[in-house]
Amino acid sequence: MAKQQQAIQAIRGMRDILPDQSPYWQWLEQNARQVLGSYGYQEIRLPIVEKTELFKRSIGEVTDIVEKEMYTFDDRNGDSLTLRPEGTAGCLRACLEHGLLHNQTHRLWYYGPMFRHERPQKGRYRQFYQLGVETYGMPGPDVDAEMILLTDRLWKKLGIRDKVELQLNSLGTSAERAAYREVLVEYFKQHVDVLDEDSLRRLETNPLRILDSKNPDMQFMLRDAPVLLEHLGEESLQHFNSLKSMLDELGISYQLNTRLVRGLDYYGKTVFEWVTDELGAQGTICAGGRYDGLIEQLGGKANHAIGFAMGMERILALVEQLDTVTLEPSVDVYLIRVGAAAETAGLLLSEQLRDQIDGLKLQVNCGGGSFKSQFKKADKSGAAFAIIIGDDEAQRGEAALKSLRIEQEQTTLSHAALLETLKTWHHNKSLA
Ligand code: ATP
Ligand code: MG
Repeated sequence: MAKQQQAIQAIRGMRDILPDQSPYWQWLEQNARQVLGSYGYQEIRLPIVEKTELFKRSIGEVTDIVEKEMYTFDDRNGDSLTLRPEGTAGCLRACLEHGLLHNQTHRLWYYGPMFRHERPQKGRYRQFYQLGVETYGMPGPDVDAEMILLTDRLWKKLGIRDKVELQLNSLGTSAERAAYREVLVEYFKQHVDVLDEDSLRRLETNPLRILDSKNPDMQFMLRDAPVLLEHLGEESLQHFNSLKSMLDELGISYQLNTRLVRGLDYYGKTVFEWVTDELGAQGTICAGGRYDGLIEQLGGKANHAIGFAMGMERILALVEQLDTVTLEPSVDVYLIRVGAAAETAGLLLSEQLRDQIDGLKLQVNCGGGSFKSQFKKADKSGAAFAIIIGDDEAQRGEAALKSLRIEQEQTTLSHAALLETLKTWHHNKSLA
């Protein structure tokens, strides 16, 4: 006798999305697509694997992602490849490769899994889903404001607007950041005694990131650290001020967060995050900013770019917590059939109904069973109606219709009458 094999489990931090959860994902995806469409954004679909070099050159060698979070491996040719940890680099790579950035503007979005080897916890996974938006060719700040408006509209649509807050900062130009960096390092050196191990390392590699530290013992020192905004030049300030006044005029409130620096090296000028305090430490649901400099870094001509990415798991966790979404059942009509003639008649009728009623969700009972057991399955399916066909109905070319959700007599109808009844019901449902 064969020995029972041990079951294989999924990789830690990589989750299955089961059928009871997938309707929430579809609901979120549809809403996001619809909002993006209403601003004229187009979808771009990108590979999940890229050359490792792409991420090293764009995200930066001394960031958390490249230092310790990437899934990197050699393929059979010996090339170093990486499962994408984010989408900005791949999107820009594609646009440069296909010449989309010559004297053109683009408003793009992509959606899919990203991979980071982090410690799994609530709101932090090793495979997670991002919806990313990138625009090219526009210096802003008008398009910077559009990004924020678009996300604001999505939160309203999802019913989470009053649970999230917009945080805003400007990182200026790379020259301004370089000058500020010196002032900042000078300040940190006066406080080396409070810097933790991570920060001491970053002091050499990426001191701006120290500002982002959540270590409670460092907060007091960080509060008095020099502020980048105060080191910005005329042009950067003007960009930031006009973005802020657009938001003021549009009635979009924001919190100035002078310590918002973002973990990736490529950002400059506008950066923003949408945060909630309902999800514990994993409170950022959407983050982005301007990254004009990255285009040249990846071999393109000087140009403009701004984008953001949202974490789908965190948005869904927030939605779930608020419990405001009611989903439609996945089945409208369940067809019960008992007897050899009924099996065939039921199948034929179901195909006719699908032909005639576009979008009707009709499930046919398969695998036999008594009327009673099939009714149980019908009820469990969430369907509004059961169609019942026994051999009698099959012989007479009829079918019985029973409402499963409201008290109503079961009626026996001709196929034509049944079709009309369901058509009307479905039409009214679509209008509702
Ligand atoms: P964090 O500070 O939470 O690690 P991050 O700065 O690394 O976030 P980004 O690279 O800006 O995140 O990614 C944009 C968004 O993607 C985040 O705001 C978050 O909503 C989501 N996200 C990032 N990493 C993960 C992860 N490991 N699991 C789930 N969602 C994530
Ligand atoms: Mg991170």
